[in-house]
Formats: sequence, C-alpha cells, structure tokens
Amino acid sequence: MERIAIFPGSFDPITKGHEDLILRASRLFDKVIVAIGVNSTKKSHFSSSERMKHIEQTFVTKPNISVDTFEGLTTDYCRKMNAHYILRGLRNTLDFEYEKSIAQLNYQLAPEIETLFLTTSAEFAGLSSTIVREIIINGGDPSIFLPDNVQV
Ligand code: ADP
Repeated sequence: MERIAIFPGSFDPITKGHEDLILRASRLFDKVIVAIGVNSTKKSHFSSSERMKHIEQTFVTKPNISVDTFEGLTTDYCRKMNAHYILRGLRNTLDFEYEKSIAQLNYQLAPEIETLFLTTSAEFAGLSSTIVREIIINGGDPSIFLPDNVQV
C-alpha cells in the first residue's frame, strides 16, 4: 500500500518553513500532497490559484510532492485521496495545544487516519505566513522568507 500523507494548510503564501517541512516529509512517505484548504468564509491574501502556483514552483523537481485544493473536512479529503496520514508542523507550544485538539477530533472522526507532527527546523521557528503577509502589505521585500523559486 502506498503511504500517502496530506499536508493541509492555508499556505497564504508558502514559506521556507513549510518548504523545509514538506521536503523532510517527502523522504518519509511515498507521496506528499500539499492541500490548500479553501474556506469561503476565510479571506486570503493570495487567491487559491496563486497559492497553488507558488507551491508548484517550489517543488517542480520533486516528483513525489503534488499540490491540490480542497473544501470541507480534512478527513473526508484524506479518504477521497486514499491517504492515511495527516502531516502538521509544530513551531511552539501554542501550535502544540491547537494541533493536539484538532488531531484528537480528527482521530475520532476517522480512526484509520493518523496525524503526525514534525518539529520545525530551528531557523524557521519564528516564521509564519502572517509575518510574510505583513511585510508585503507594508511594502517590504519578503524574498528571504520564501522558497527560492517563488516570487510574489
Ligand atoms: P493553517 O492556516 O492551517 O495553520 P498554515 O499554512 O499557516 O495553515 O500552516 C500549515 C502547517 O504548516 C501548520 O501545521 C503549521 O504549523 C505549519 N507551519 C507553518 N509555518 C511553519 C514553519 N515556519 N515551520 C514549520 N512548519 C510551519
């Protein structure tokens, strides 16, 4: 059975922190699907097609990493894609508390799907899409925080 992991998130935009985590995960699984959660009530800075393009550009040389969008429950999407792993990143204790509850709820909804966590590499622990958006909105250059192939 192919080991498929879903890495769900907003990726508004993808950062070097996400990139690092996804590359590390791609060595553990047969396939990693970076899944952009499209939520009609949550306003994003970049459209889902822009976010998809950034992610495609990031992993253009990595055949076992793909990108997709989804609406609705992550566990429903996993079942549709035949994925048995949800991957999330942990930067700090706040992430841990939040992620723990979601992982526990998801386990109740779909016990055949495990949520696995990777801790962020130290150099990216302070990085978030929110910070990158703040830099962009205030006219700064966010490129040091973005994957090399990504221009915003
Ligand atoms: P969400 O809105 O679902 O939190 P994000 O795109 O912000 O989506 O994050 C998706 C995942 O990436 C989350 O598990 C988050 O903890 C992780 N992540 C975000 N920034 C980093 C980073 N700098 N290093 C490692 N993981 C990160």
